[in-house]
Amino acid sequence: MNSIKLLTVRGIPIRMHITFPLILILAAFLFGSGQSSWLRGAAFGVVVTLLLFVGVVLHELAHSLVAIAFGAPVKQIVLLPLGGVSQMEKVPERPYQELLMAVAGPVTSGLIGIGLAAVTILVFRNWFDVWAGFFRSFFLQLGDLKWSYVLPYLAFVNLFLAGFNMIPAFPMDGGRVLRALLATVMPYGRATRISVIIGQGLAWLIGLFGLIGGGVMAVLVAIFVYVGAAQEGRLTQVKMALAGLRVRQAFSRGVRALDPEASLGQAVDMTLEGFQSDFPVCEGERLVGMLTRTDVLVGLKEKGPQAPVREAMRKELVVAQPDDDLFEIQQRMAEAKLDAIPVVEGESFLGLLTRQDLEEVYRVVSVQPGLLREEV
Ligand SMILES: [Zn+2]
Repeated sequence: MNSIKLLTVRGIPIRMHITFPLILILAAFLFGSGQSSWLRGAAFGVVVTLLLFVGVVLHELAHSLVAIAFGAPVKQIVLLPLGGVSQMEKVPERPYQELLMAVAGPVTSGLIGIGLAAVTILVFRNWFDVWAGFFRSFFLQLGDLKWSYVLPYLAFVNLFLAGFNMIPAFPMDGGRVLRALLATVMPYGRATRISVIIGQGLAWLIGLFGLIGGGVMAVLVAIFVYVGAAQEGRLTQVKMALAGLRVRQAFSRGVRALDPEASLGQAVDMTLEGFQSDFPVCEGERLVGMLTRTDVLVGLKEKGPQAPVREAMRKELVVAQPDDDLFEIQQRMAEAKLDAIPVVEGESFLGLLTRQDLEEVYRVVSVQPGLLREEV
């Protein structure tokens, strides 16, 4: 991923995506415009945006720490221009765990907001005037931004974050809360489907509201919510279909392997004969590399058909074991954009798990959910 590590908290790397500085430029531009001193407004915008992201990190850390407490590992937290994402390797199993994990973020933002609002009252003797001045300047563009507005601004935005995230629509935290609540009275799959429908309905409402009122932001938020809801729906469908299945139930055993000394021309011939397009490269039983369709094409272009497979193959391999969880491996393949990964036991090669295998399992299980599970 194109991101830079900032720090690590309790083993969770917090990273900044390379596009993150865009939000600072946008903030400088938006806060600077309309001010009597452009520079001061822009500086205000950059400072409050950086401080706001401290709040975003705490929000994401709250999600992550609860997830870890329930045994769901967190890969990293990534800061994007429009917010933070906690990337989890899996979601906590039980609905109440997912609920606690989801509400931890908005609760944290809410507490930060309330805390900062309380601080403004303690710090400013004329706190009412400060808040009124902030609202006038921020919402009505009446009067310049002052440094004394930093605290009210942060209090307000953290409270807004808490509220916005509780909208009951995926990909917002409120979508997970809704699903978890529904899942206490109905099966998880149905709870997800209903949450997706509610989320997309809300997206339509937000979008219509934006179109009528001419609010471009509202339309963008609507699209974001609609797509996010659809993605969550699909992900859950795949997860439910593959739940409890193992790699051994899906992978292809009758796979042709290539010798490292074979030529790329031979790989092309085998592909054209219709065997497969991704090849494990083996020395005897031992897997030494993978030659994907892309590797063949790149190798042909750079080295020609006579070049040996060993010069074009990849040696850093993502592999699966027969007892690995099928959904987790499917996610790993999707993340690495792989069409096939080798299945190994110890050093020895057993076969390939391909995208077609996964699609086949998905089709079978969608029609007959119990079929493959009975074998276990
Ligand atoms: Zn959140």
